[in-house]
Amino acid sequence: MKYVSLTNNGQTASFKQAVIQGLAPDKGLYYPAYIPQWKSSFVEKIPELSNLEIALEAMRPFVDEDLNLSELEQLLDDVLSFEFPLQQVGKYYSLELFHGPTLAFKDVGAGFMAKCLGRFIQDEQNQKATVLVATSGDTGGAVANGFLGVEGIDVVILYPSGKVSPIQEKQLTTLGQNITALEVQGTFDDCQSMVKRAFVDPELTSKVRLTSANSINVARWIPQMLYYIFAYKTLKNMRIQEHPVFSVPSGNFGNICAGMLAHKMGLPVAHFIACNNTNDTVVDFMKTGVYRPKDTVATISNAMDVGNPSNFVRILELFNKQKKELEFDFTALSYSDSETKVAMQEIYNQFNYVADPHGAVAYLGLQAYMAKNPTTAGVFLETAHPSKFIDVVESTLDIEVSIPENVHFLMNREKQSILTSNYEDLKSFLLQ
Ligand SMILES: *Cc1c(COP(=O)(O)O)cnc(C)c1O
Repeated sequence: MKYVSLTNNGQTASFKQAVIQGLAPDKGLYYPAYIPQWKSSFVEKIPELSNLEIALEAMRPFVDEDLNLSELEQLLDDVLSFEFPLQQVGKYYSLELFHGPTLAFKDVGAGFMAKCLGRFIQDEQNQKATVLVATSGDTGGAVANGFLGVEGIDVVILYPSGKVSPIQEKQLTTLGQNITALEVQGTFDDCQSMVKRAFVDPELTSKVRLTSANSINVARWIPQMLYYIFAYKTLKNMRIQEHPVFSVPSGNFGNICAGMLAHKMGLPVAHFIACNNTNDTVVDFMKTGVYRPKDTVATISNAMDVGNPSNFVRILELFNKQKKELEFDFTALSYSDSETKVAMQEIYNQFNYVADPHGAVAYLGLQAYMAKNPTTAGVFLETAHPSKFIDVVESTLDIEVSIPENVHFLMNREKQSILTSNYEDLKSFLLQ
């Protein structure tokens, strides 16, 4: 598989080059040169296969030039070491993607990308890279955990002081080794603009190989398609006949785009619903046909506070840039914070299920869709464990949320962070 830059300059790259570069040199997003097609015999066999067997078959064409089958198997085995259960919530299903090491669905993509980059950097002349990320809370933990101990790679995470939850902060600041947390006296947008500035600072980039770890990177984006295949497998094993409808809480649109990629490869899916909070750039596009990026608005589902979702161009590409074609498979809806809180209460009171704000936004979209399409196998993606957004969940539901066993140990570890107030601080840290 080769990857092409979506700016259509004809620039192509191997998987390895695309992973190392992140963005193409012409600033376009990399996109697979062709969409592999599954044999119907594979789709029919999905219910009987293990997750690892499914993952190998699905991922193989995307990496075939740079990883052999046993390397890929080893890598996938490492990152798929937990469950992806479907919980029945009334007439809906919650696809719980928070059973990974940092309780976020980003664990699979971040882990896969970390392993690939670690492997590929060994072949480079200067076998070193620095991964630089800004986080509003969720991405940072998954990236830190994925890259922990990966040789040749240093990770520098910027997070807004006092604006991430206690677990999130522990996940960012207690790992040590090759992970450094810079605690920024400012907002997430300040963190983000410092990172952006670093990537275009020639003095810096001539001395340090900087890489980003967001869903622009193909190694983070593509493996997310596996969730949809695993959910399909579980539904078939529950003897559910209808093709699933997936409702996905969306920010940068990487996750849902990966699901749509699986669908284009042959996964039977009836419909995709992208659910936004008030950051509704894509909802507006679907109404007007005009794509107009917006300033980011802060919400309680802050991992989706994105005003200019980078992966939307990949979605358009999957549908030949035809809005009409896209509409057939895809609906975008947005919900306010107060609607989200009411949904969390409803899910708790009616079904005794605790949803985090992101899952609750997805639930709302699914509910609206199923009101019109009742005979649907409706699945909403629950992308984070409620304890990661503990303040909102506890105050909205008036309950106490406990922290799962597998991260409990973190809470006793000591926080280590470097206070950072401006770009010069970041730059001198990276140059030292
Ligand atoms: C990142 C994130 C999302 C949004 O995923 P995208 O791929 O950016 O659309 C949703 N929920 C949670 C909890 C996240 O961390």
